[in-house]
Amino acid sequence: MKRTAKRILSTLLIVVMLIGVAPTGGIDFTLNAKAMDLSSYKVGDLIEFGSYPQSEVTDEEILNGIKSVEDNYKWIDYNYYAGTGNWDDGNMKSVDGMMLYKDITYNGNTYRAVKINQYRPYWTCETSSASNSWQDDNGYYTNKVYYFKYEPLKWRVLDASTGLIVCDSAIDSQPYNNYILGADGQYWSDSNKKHYASNWEYSSLRAWLNNEFYNTAFSKTQQDRIKELTRENKSTYDSKYDSNPTSDKITLLSYDEVLNKDYGFNSSSEAYDTARQRKGTDYAKCQGLYVYNDSGSNYNRTSYWWLRSPDTSLNAGDVKVGGYMGGSFCINMTNEGVIPAFKFNPKSTICDVHEYKAVVTEPTCTEQGYTTYTCTKCNDSYVDNYTNALGHDFGEWKLTTPATCTEIGVETRYCSRCNVTQTRDVDKSAHIFGEWKITTAPTTISDGVKTRYCKNCDAFETESVGKLKAISVKLKNIETNYKKSGQLEPKITNPDNVGCKVEYKSSDPKCVIVDADGNYFAVKTGSAKITCTVTDEYGKVTTAECKVNVKYSTVQWIIMIVLFGWIWY
Ligand SMILES: [Zn+2]
Ligand SMILES: [Zn+2]
Ligand SMILES: [Zn+2]
Repeated sequence: MKRTAKRILSTLLIVVMLIGVAPTGGIDFTLNAKAMDLSSYKVGDLIEFGSYPQSEVTDEEILNGIKSVEDNYKWIDYNYYAGTGNWDDGNMKSVDGMMLYKDITYNGNTYRAVKINQYRPYWTCETSSASNSWQDDNGYYTNKVYYFKYEPLKWRVLDASTGLIVCDSAIDSQPYNNYILGADGQYWSDSNKKHYASNWEYSSLRAWLNNEFYNTAFSKTQQDRIKELTRENKSTYDSKYDSNPTSDKITLLSYDEVLNKDYGFNSSSEAYDTARQRKGTDYAKCQGLYVYNDSGSNYNRTSYWWLRSPDTSLNAGDVKVGGYMGGSFCINMTNEGVIPAFKFNPKSTICDVHEYKAVVTEPTCTEQGYTTYTCTKCNDSYVDNYTNALGHDFGEWKLTTPATCTEIGVETRYCSRCNVTQTRDVDKSAHIFGEWKITTAPTTISDGVKTRYCKNCDAFETESVGKLKAISVKLKNIETNYKKSGQLEPKITNPDNVGCKVEYKSSDPKCVIVDADGNYFAVKTGSAKITCTVTDEYGKVTTAECKVNVKYSTVQWIIMIVLFGWIWY
């Protein structure tokens, strides 16, 4: 809105220069320039006044800028309606979170973010779905956020002498009335059947124009420029459907007004009329505005728009695409354009020469600074001299929650100016393991396992433990004599002290016998192999062999010679 003021100022300065000194009297359209007379305008001339979200933002750089600050703003619910699919059962109601919006200030401009969680039905009685909405046809889809720039509203002058103007585009898409109940052969705007559904006085659109729209589009100073007027609201069909006269600042045109030649309209309701044609803004299309699509038509892309005049209890007047009239529309359609209209206050309420007093608002960490100029005589004000937001002045990161081996920690820093805090995660700490403990003992055949546990959580680690060393056996060969006995002396190496049993076996017990303890006896000369078998407690077997040679001793030879010699002799 701030920018709007500047734009209008410059536009008007140019106009003032072109037309020279303005005559006195008439209606004042200006914000902070010298008062200017509307009598210099013709019917159909365009002026700018107020601002409203209109063009979709597509510039990547601006989008990124908006997104960088948008978290500072909260979503607001539009409270849009949906129903059961039965069109007049009176069960349509506001659905939480169907569509949300928020207004974001970035770089001196205001933008409106719109989030479509569910499609907005084109009748308030319908259920939400893409087939019941024009939003997707217009290129706006669920689960997406769209951004629209607040831009100056353009208005057409209808009557320069009274200050009557009407909006030049369909700036929004709203139903004439959210609620409809069919009963007793009529349609009602409330469950108690107090008023007809087409009663303008009790319509949701009248409330919307004078609350949501009025407060969104106009600054306080601009609002002071708008005249509150009492207007008739006669039915185009039957006087029993007349609505009481209403006193408002913002209204819609009536059926008669859009047939008024003095306002630049064609007086025939059946005529094609460019003055009655209206196209929607991007923002209105995002809200679900119906857009006529026929590239061969000379009124391609125009939309329907509401008039305030009731018709039957069910319908209200509207202007069709192409500017044709005739007929009316069911009041709970949400896809009709809104074309606001109002009258300015007479010029007498505005000063000729303002006396501005400047009040400087310093920038904060997140908001721009600016200077507000307010006229001490008439309260007109505008804003200028923007200064950049300061950005936060963060101190050092401080550990506020130490990390453990199971939970991440948090570091926090504070802005010295505004106390905003920022936090960041600290990685989990390492586990603190205790001693290794053997959990599966190794054997000579298989590896063992050792395990250690974290002292602070259930985490553990395992490693394998190498096999026990195998037993080894060595036996020396033995030279012995007939009928001699002795003890085998195997050299058993058992580094890991494994339990074992030792066994002996002779390959020729007729030559050498051996007992369980390794005692041998030479039965006759010759040779025999003795096998020593060591079997450890895990069943691993190791063997060693030795050769036992049995011979006669010298004495035995002498005995043999003597004995056999005697026999021979
Ligand atoms: Zn003033
Ligand atoms: Zn700060
Ligand atoms: Zn741990």
